[in-house]
Amino acid sequence: MEKVVIFDLDDTLYKEIDYLRSAYKEISDFIESEYDKREIYEFMISCYKAGRNTFAEVIREYNLPISVDYLISIYRSHKPNISLDCDTQFVLEQLSLQKNINLGILTDGRGITQNNKIIALGIDQYIRKDNWVISEEFGYSKPSSEGYLYFQKKYKNAAFYYIGDNLVKDFIAPIQLGWTCICLLDDGSHNIHKQDLSIINNISSLYTVKCLRELFEYL
Ligand SMILES: [Mg+2]
Repeated sequence: MEKVVIFDLDDTLYKEIDYLRSAYKEISDFIESEYDKREIYEFMISCYKAGRNTFAEVIREYNLPISVDYLISIYRSHKPNISLDCDTQFVLEQLSLQKNINLGILTDGRGITQNNKIIALGIDQYIRKDNWVISEEFGYSKPSSEGYLYFQKKYKNAAFYYIGDNLVKDFIAPIQLGWTCICLLDDGSHNIHKQDLSIINNISSLYTVKCLRELFEYL
């Protein structure tokens, strides 16, 4: 039977904290070279860990003549230095080689940001571009069912799978649509959005895995 396996991006195919670190590095390099400052990156990471408004704090602390919006624009549009871990690369490679499996991405975010991530991670080797559904470009974001229906309309009579991490928004629509859902568990409070596992009690079509290699048990 034909199978359609759709992945979330952030905190599913890579850890979003790595994107944050990459963006902070880009911003700190800019500030250090432009305004002759030091140890900006360390300051920004300490703000993030303390739950403070990093961009407002760095502008205030170093008396910079730039706006928060400008730093946000660097954050969102920079070319990230991020990569797939070995397990994820192996899983995508193996799945992409199987003739009866079609792969896709359904992710929320800005077009420029999510496209830059996908390219930087090399996911374009495994998943064709017309199967990248990015909410800003597509016009709907999760938990809307529209993104999932895009794949259902494209592939008739297939078995559908969604792999994500966000229990609040990733699985509501695909569970209603009868997809098999697989939640990648946070490997130690690294995820940007925390997981509340009490939400998933008694949902028979939602499974959890500790790493993506476990996916093969369910596909
Ligand atoms: Mg996610």
